[in-house]
Amino acid sequence: MRHFLDHAATSPMRQVPVDAWVEHAGMLNPGGQYASGRAARRVLDDARELIATLLDADPVEVIFTASGTEADNLAVTGLYRAAGGGRVVASPVEHPAVLEPLKALKALGAEIEWLPVTEGRVTGLAALDAPAALATCMWANNETGILQPVEDIVARAEAAGTPVHIDAVQVVGHRPVSFRGLGATTLAASAHKFGGPRSGGLLLARRSPAPAPVLHGGGQERGIRPGTLDVATAAATAAALQEAVAEMAAEETRLAGLRERLREGILARVDDVLVHTRGPALAGHLHVSFPGAEGDSLIMLLDTAGIEASTGSACASGVNRASHVLLAMGVSEADTRGAVRFTLGRTSTEEDVDAVLAIIEETVARARLAGMAG
Ligand code: PLP
Repeated sequence: MRHFLDHAATSPMRQVPVDAWVEHAGMLNPGGQYASGRAARRVLDDARELIATLLDADPVEVIFTASGTEADNLAVTGLYRAAGGGRVVASPVEHPAVLEPLKALKALGAEIEWLPVTEGRVTGLAALDAPAALATCMWANNETGILQPVEDIVARAEAAGTPVHIDAVQVVGHRPVSFRGLGATTLAASAHKFGGPRSGGLLLARRSPAPAPVLHGGGQERGIRPGTLDVATAAATAAALQEAVAEMAAEETRLAGLRERLREGILARVDDVLVHTRGPALAGHLHVSFPGAEGDSLIMLLDTAGIEASTGSACASGVNRASHVLLAMGVSEADTRGAVRFTLGRTSTEEDVDAVLAIIEETVARARLAGMAG
């Protein structure tokens, strides 16, 4: 039996979006002016309205994208261009979907100012007090699950007249989100993190200031994300979000209980464990390091025992580099190497947690032996 504890990477699709997707898979171009185009447009409009209601935004503010990565890129690069360049304020623990466009902007002359981070949380906000082209910060970190003070960040940036992008990819569908209440300029989300289809992204973008176009084409989605829309994915995303939001409060309590069982169980069985998930954090996250062990060996040994977890750092290429998030938290490079991220979600059960606890002591001991040999 397999035990999936990598929900922050992607979550199994719920049945409602599968049904919504299948129902609308044959829809044609919602831009068509004839009957089949109008029919597709109605499904798209319904999806847009439902998403707007669930995230407390205006329907016109909902931009469908093909991933969270795309939403982050369009916002960061687009807001920078709309401002005509200048200084950018960012947290150093951002996902590569934000960090990489920032690097690209830096190469074009942007000055990036990093907000200080203490124990994984952005602390000093003084850099936000002078006007900037944009500020960007994630709502919750994908590795540690630690929640960032986004309300304070938005308020401080707004006072200086600086547009703010919030990467809420780990939060949407897991905690309440009010785009209106938050007051951010843009916000990114991704359907596969809340049980929707992969490659279903969302960008919420206020009317003004709007990101300048990064992609150029037929003008769909207010010109911010041109390209023929995938109506089936939009409908599936809305359906998944509706179910996720309905279950969110109960799920948070349930997952917090499971996470505690996992955390306490690991600490009771294994010596010398660093727990990186501390303070206010997403309920399903438990990011730890087992100093002396290699994360890659741990992941392989866990996999052999039927347990699917990850080292946590976003490395699509499979190259295990030291996590920039843990380094920014002050974790030593050696200790970052033994990192494992367990993330629980909708399908997680006590059996999944107990399966980890049954083998963790021996697994870490073996990985530490291999670490000593290497
Ligand atoms: N931002 C954060 C915080 C994430 O965790 C992820 C995915 O891991 C992304 C952005 C990118 O989302 P997507 O996988 O939809 O491109």
